[in-house]
Amino acid sequence: MRRLLIAGNWKMHMLNHEAVSLARQLKLRLLGVHRVDTLIFPPFTALTSVAEILSDADIQLGAQNLHDQRSGAFTGEVSGEMVRSAGGTWVLVGHSERRQFFGDTDAWINRKVHAALEAGLRPLVCVGETLEERRGGRLEEVLRRQATLGLAGLTPALAAEISVAYEPVWAIGTGVVATPEQAQEAHACLRGMLAEVLGVDGAQHCAILYGGSVKADNARPLLGMPDIDGALVGGASLKADEFGAIVQAGEGVVK
Ligand code: PEP
Repeated sequence: MRRLLIAGNWKMHMLNHEAVSLARQLKLRLLGVHRVDTLIFPPFTALTSVAEILSDADIQLGAQNLHDQRSGAFTGEVSGEMVRSAGGTWVLVGHSERRQFFGDTDAWINRKVHAALEAGLRPLVCVGETLEERRGGRLEEVLRRQATLGLAGLTPALAAEISVAYEPVWAIGTGVVATPEQAQEAHACLRGMLAEVLGVDGAQHCAILYGGSVKADNARPLLGMPDIDGALVGGASLKADEFGAIVQAGEGVVK
């Protein structure tokens, strides 16, 4: 009932001409993909030009962050409405790099989620524990805090607009990928928490993506797990062939 979604987070990579070139390659590489949804998050500076390239492609587009205010004296920030006007329909919220380096708190993430929805954007909300938290037996506690505070105030009617990415911090950009069983356990746990916020039906409609060192050669078993509804891919999304192969792995999954 939930279609797989493979999303690429380009982070702070890709000059404008490089982004245009990668978007063109992706468009060709993903021709013929029908069973899996695809989505990319280029840097803000490339949104407009990538949107133009993708105007006749079945690849969705989003930004990597937004501010919670609609406009104002917030130098260096970008609003949801600005992302929309640049052609984005999605936005990443609460990526662990934002939490770690830019002070995104659960409360701020929650305001950003609401701002995204008000601007007509679909938020992909990232959660995940550090290695220390996992080793300390705090996985469930951390996920509960991030999910309940980050998604506070949402109603079941909004469930279809929201997606979550489980990204264990120890797996992001490290080459260490969670095992399918570890990821499934966290996803099932998150699905239960989502049911408390969005209702049981809402939680069933909410996609939960796995992120953390996903590559073409490890994607398939992860994507085959019952509560894993796709992948958020960082490094491997910067090469059209590698990203295409991950999408292809998703096409082969039957649930
Ligand atoms: C990410 O940036 O969200 C991510 C999962 O990165 P990587 O795939 O490089 O670990």
